Formats: sequence, structure tokens, C-alpha cells
Amino acid sequence: MSSDQTWKTKYFQELETAEQREAQWKSERNVLERMLVRTSLASAGQTPELDSLLDQIRSDLRKNRVGVESWRQLQEQIDRQIALLDEVATSEVRSVQQSPCVAPLIVAEPADERVDEGDQPEPVVDAEDQSQRLRIARRVGHLLGQLLSQVSLEPDAEARARNLQRALLSSDDWDELREGLNQVADLIVAAVTRSQREFEAFLKRLDERLAVLQEHFSVQSSAQSGREAAAEKLDRSIRNEIEQVGQQLKASGDLQELKQSVSSHLESIGQAVGRFRVEETEREKMLSEQLMAMKEKMVVMETHSEQMRGQMRKERERAVTDLLTQLPNREAWQERLSFEFNRWKRYQYPLTVGVLDVDLFKRVNDSYGHKAGDRVLQLVAKEIKQRLRKTDFVARFGGEEFALLFPETLPENAQVVLDKLRAHVSALPFHFGGDPVMITFSGGIAGFGPDDTEETVFDRADKALYLAKDSGRNCIRIG
Ligand code: GH3
Ligand code: MG
Ligand code: MG
Repeated sequence: MSSDQTWKTKYFQELETAEQREAQWKSERNVLERMLVRTSLASAGQTPELDSLLDQIRSDLRKNRVGVESWRQLQEQIDRQIALLDEVATSEVRSVQQSPCVAPLIVAEPADERVDEGDQPEPVVDAEDQSQRLRIARRVGHLLGQLLSQVSLEPDAEARARNLQRALLSSDDWDELREGLNQVADLIVAAVTRSQREFEAFLKRLDERLAVLQEHFSVQSSAQSGREAAAEKLDRSIRNEIEQVGQQLKASGDLQELKQSVSSHLESIGQAVGRFRVEETEREKMLSEQLMAMKEKMVVMETHSEQMRGQMRKERERAVTDLLTQLPNREAWQERLSFEFNRWKRYQYPLTVGVLDVDLFKRVNDSYGHKAGDRVLQLVAKEIKQRLRKTDFVARFGGEEFALLFPETLPENAQVVLDKLRAHVSALPFHFGGDPVMITFSGGIAGFGPDDTEETVFDRADKALYLAKDSGRNCIRIG
């Protein structure tokens, strides 16, 4: 074989080996790619950053776009994320060991290492999740407030619920919030079961009372029928005796015998009447006892109904009263607005709506705390209430907004009233933490005119309020 020939054979052999190796690599690569896709799927769910890096891997594989350089960078980013995860997990373990009460805001623990006892650790929380959670907790806090104004709880539970609501509205500590959210569920269950239980108990008592009454009536009617039967019996026996006397009179000629017979019959009649009287007295006694018992039961029942009515009145009042300010709430506002609107439609006297909003109230909360904010709302509500006429109406519309109704008042006149109120409130000497603080509000006013509805007038008043805000606040505008 010439050297040329040998080289050629060798070349073809090498080529074949190379092709085989390439086929082998391809299949190995295929298997590895599939494994990588599955592993990346299995590792998902730790943090959003890690998930997006794993997504990138899968997308590159799918598009067959595996670049050594870009994958090296990917690899480094993944390493960083894993290191971060480890760090947080370690600090979580440390903090749990140091203080079981104060858990960190951000908690991480690989899913497969979760311990199945006590409080489950929370998954990793990023800033967006965190603010989402805070938003949810605030919303639950507000809902809880609404719920509390509708249901009645034991004073203890009520106080706990108020604290809880405060925590939900102001705390930033997720653990406290999470605990709070759990308690909300318990509270709702307690409130619902309580009113259900009370209602059931009321129905049961009512049913018992009705049964007692029914029994009385049936005894009464049987006593009545007993009386009728006894009277009939007496009637019969008297008639019988008299008949016998008559027969004796006809048949007998002996006066002595006749006298005796008459007197014995009279005796029998006398006895029958006597028996009837005794029975009658007994029956009367029994009836009057029953009547007394029934009267007593009626009194108890009436007292109880009165209590129930009182309780229902209270519940109804709670349902239409804002707890913080003790003003009528938004439900009460809607009711009163409809009522005055219908009167306006019928009688066409002037009717004006006002909307007030405390100026820059968020600053009060931010600078002096939620409690100070609450206090401001209470005092402003008190001032408004005190300075309005009896026929005017004010409700807490929500947050730091109040809605007012001025029947038989033109917008210009309502503006004078509100302007005085505004000047008065702005001059009140509020102090928080030693700082004098000026509290002002802005207001919008609108009067009912042809074609107006409750909504159109309220919208106009609301727009006027925004004009007042736009023109520098602490003033009242007519829309
Ligand atoms: P503006 O003059 O434009 O009305 O500014 P503002 O800060 O008053 O208005 P904004 O709507 O931005 O803020 C209202 C704040 O009122 C935000 C909310 O947290 C607070 N707030 C709502 N309800 C209550 C409450 O019952 N108690 C307390 N303390 N704050 C409340
Ligand atoms: Mg507002
Ligand atoms: Mg405001």
C-alpha cells in the first residue's frame, strides 16, 4: 500500500469516528438539555429574580441560542441569587434562634427544607409583594371597620377588634399583619355565630311562649265546655225532679205523701244546685288562676319583646352610625338624601348639598400618627354637628370627607354657614406633640335644580370641592 493510500484510509477512518462521536455528543447534549429544562422547572418558585433567570435558560434552549458568553453571565447571576437565598435563610434561622417573637420581614427557606411544625415560614417576599401585602392588610382593616359598624360584639371582642383594625391600618410589620389577618377571620366567625345564636335563641323562646299560650287557650276552652256540660246536667236533673213532682201530683191523692215527695224533690234540686255551685266556684277559681298565670306570662313576653325591639333599634343605629365620629355613616347619608330628594321633588323648596374634605390630612397622619388623625376627625365632626341647625344633616361620607344636607336653604346661604364653620375650625388650637397644628377643610356646594337627581347634585358639589382644593384649599365653592 502506497503512503498516499494509507493516508486516505486513515483519513476516512478518522472521519467516520468523528461522525460517530458527533452523533454521540448530539444525543448526549439532547439529554442534557432536557435535564436542564426539567431541573430549571423544578427549581422555580424561590424568588422572582431566580425564576426569570431560569426562564431565560429555557428560552435560550428552546430557541437553540446557547451562547457561551451570555450563559457564563447567566451562570454568575444565578450564583448570586443562590448566595442571597442562602444568606437570608441563615439570617432567618439565626433570628428565630435569638428571638422567637421578632421574626424578620423577609423570610426565606428552601421549600424542601420547610419544617412541618408551628408557624410555617413564609416564602421570600420582595418589595412589590411586600407593598401588595400591606395594601391588602389596609383594605382588610377598612373592611373590618365597616364590619364592626354593622355587627355587635361583646365589649372585650369589640376592643380587640378595634386594636386589630388599628394594627392593620398602621403596622408595617408583616408578622403582626399576618397574625392580624388570622384574627380577622376568627372575629368574623365569632360575630356571625353570635348573632345567629342570638336569633335562634330568640326564635326558640318565642316558640315556647306561643306553645304556653296555646295550652292556655285549649284549657280555657275545655273549661268553657265543662261549664256548658255541667249547666246542662243541672238543667236536666231539675227538669227531671220537677217532672216527677208533676207525676206525683197527678197520681197521688194523699196530701201527706205528696208533701213528702215534693220536699224530697226540692231537696234533690237543692243538692244539684249546690253541687253545681261548688263546681262552678272551682271552675272559676281555676280559670282565674289560669288567667293570672297567663297575664304574668304576657308581661314577661312583652318585656322580652320590648328588649328585643330595643336591641334591634340599637343594632339598626349601629348600622347607620360611624363609630369613630358617632356621626351618621354613608348608608344613613344615602337614606336621608333620598328622603330629602323626594320631598324636594314634591314641594320644590330649596335643597342644598355640601361636601367637606379635611385639607392635607395625610400629612397629619404622616407627621403625628394615625391616632392623632383619628382625634382630628372626631373633633372636626363634633364641631360640624354642633354648629348646624337641627334640620340640617351631616354624615361621615368616608375617610376625611363629610357630606351635608341643607333643606330649605339656598346654596348661597349654605355657603355662609359653611364658611363660618370653616373659619371656626381653622382657628381651633390643635396641638400634637407640643406643635400647634392648623386644621382646615375645603368644601363644595350645589343646590337642586330642574332635572337634577341625587347623583348630579352630589357630583356638582364634589367638583366644586375640587375647585376649592385647586384654588388653594381652606375655602368653600359653589358648583
Ligand atoms: P387634600 O387636601 O387634597 O384632601 O389632601 P389629603 O392629604 O387630605 O388627601 P388624601 O386623599 O391624599 O389623604 C387622605 C388621608 O386620610 C389618607 C388616609 O390614610 C387618611 N384617612 C382616611 N380615613 C382615616 C381614618 O379613619 N383615620 C385616620 N387617621 N386617617 C384616615
Ligand atoms: Mg379625601
Ligand atoms: Mg383631604
